[in-house]
Amino acid sequence: MAEHSILPEYASGRPDNQDKEVLLSFADDIKNKNSNNEPKFPGNRPYKKLSSMPLIPKPGSNCRKCGYCVTVCPVGAIDPQTFKSDKSKCITCMRCIKVCPANSRKVNKLLTKAAGLALKKSASVRKENELFI
Ligand code: SF4
Ligand code: SF4
Repeated sequence: MAEHSILPEYASGRPDNQDKEVLLSFADDIKNKNSNNEPKFPGNRPYKKLSSMPLIPKPGSNCRKCGYCVTVCPVGAIDPQTFKSDKSKCITCMRCIKVCPANSRKVNKLLTKAAGLALKKSASVRKENELFI
């Protein structure tokens, strides 16, 4: 469990000491796993079609053109010349926003606010870590 990448009011300060203890116990559980069974993940199947808000980051005018965002994007969605995100590839993970040294990458403010409101009910209570092995 970690602080939300663009809505830091959710899971603020996490992972905390309590998380670290839980993660250490997970490490023991993983080390001691003695079967090759596939983990069982919760949820309803078939999965419903993803309907997400188009939160696609783009660089601002203070972009230093350092290219760091290009190197950290997990899906190679950022153009190394323009530093714009390809919306057909971007998975809205927000990693590029979090690591940009100029704090330049942004998503649409109104959509971010709407996402915050949509998450408010479910994200305002502490969520515990879960391990599926
Ligand atoms: S990491 Fe930030 S400053 Fe560097 S290229 Fe990307 S958007 Fe520009
Ligand atoms: S939000 Fe994630 S997937 Fe989209 S451009 Fe940034 S790092 Fe890449």
